[in-house]
Amino acid sequence: MKKGIYKQLHLLHLEAALPQVLDQARTQQWTYETFLERALGSELDGREQKALARRLKAARIPAKKTLDGFEFSFQPSPCERRLRELADLSFVRSCTNLVFLGPPGTGKTHLSLALADRALSQGYSVLFTTLADLARTLESASHPGLVRQRLRRYIAPSLLVIDEVGYTRLSQEQAHQFFELVAARYEHGSIILTSNTSFAGWGRLLGGDEVLATALLDRLLHHAEVISINGRSYRMKERQEDRVDEAAWREEPSGTAGARSPGVGQVGVGIS
Ligand code: ADP
Ligand code: MG
Repeated sequence: MKKGIYKQLHLLHLEAALPQVLDQARTQQWTYETFLERALGSELDGREQKALARRLKAARIPAKKTLDGFEFSFQPSPCERRLRELADLSFVRSCTNLVFLGPPGTGKTHLSLALADRALSQGYSVLFTTLADLARTLESASHPGLVRQRLRRYIAPSLLVIDEVGYTRLSQEQAHQFFELVAARYEHGSIILTSNTSFAGWGRLLGGDEVLATALLDRLLHHAEVISINGRSYRMKERQEDRVDEAAWREEPSGTAGARSPGVGQVGVGIS
């Protein structure tokens, strides 16, 4: 084989996979057609994996979460069937927004991340940010050209997740920049947004500007689905379970305590 041919043709994944593909071809006596299909398929697989890794890095996802990892039995108010339907991502294709509303610990970020993960695996570009980070990034731009450039970063992805709306009160300038972003994505790209604050309180969050809040909500909610979660905090559940674990650990006779994982006890002590 001519040296460097794979490089010239940009077939580096095929080059890496070829020894194994050839091996299989010989042992399984593939036809020429099967061999060609598998060899080119290995190049395609390699490219797709590389593209996924690139999208994943650009998405700044803080943790991997899945719908399968969500205990709907603990938190029945987001309808499982509806969330599984949303995982088909038609909301991304139709540029529809999703808003998860509810108190802390009820799984808003988890469900947003699960849908974002699904979008990434289906080839969509995604960006995750908290509102506080978004506001800081835009406000710290030293001149209007840089603000526009940074805004484009949030406008470009097919899906933008804006987490934790409600924990930070924005200044008037930050609120205007947030409005600009929502307006720019309106009917162009989906937003998943999470908030612990009902819409009536958004004027206070957005620099005290009720007119701006109304205009922003108008665009955000025109094509949107609002999913309210009105349950208990999963974080509190885990804390309570840790406490029960810790108590059991303490009550065990000294000779057997060492048999348990020391990590369980340490977690309990650390947070109590
Ligand atoms: P929120 O964004 O509403 O404050 P999170 O989504 O951050 O809550 O949830 C807090 C933690 O609890 C996360 O680690 C999340 O994965 C987990 N969690 C929340 N609800 C559930 C659930 N119903 N099933 C499994 N894990 C959950
Ligand atoms: Mg959250």
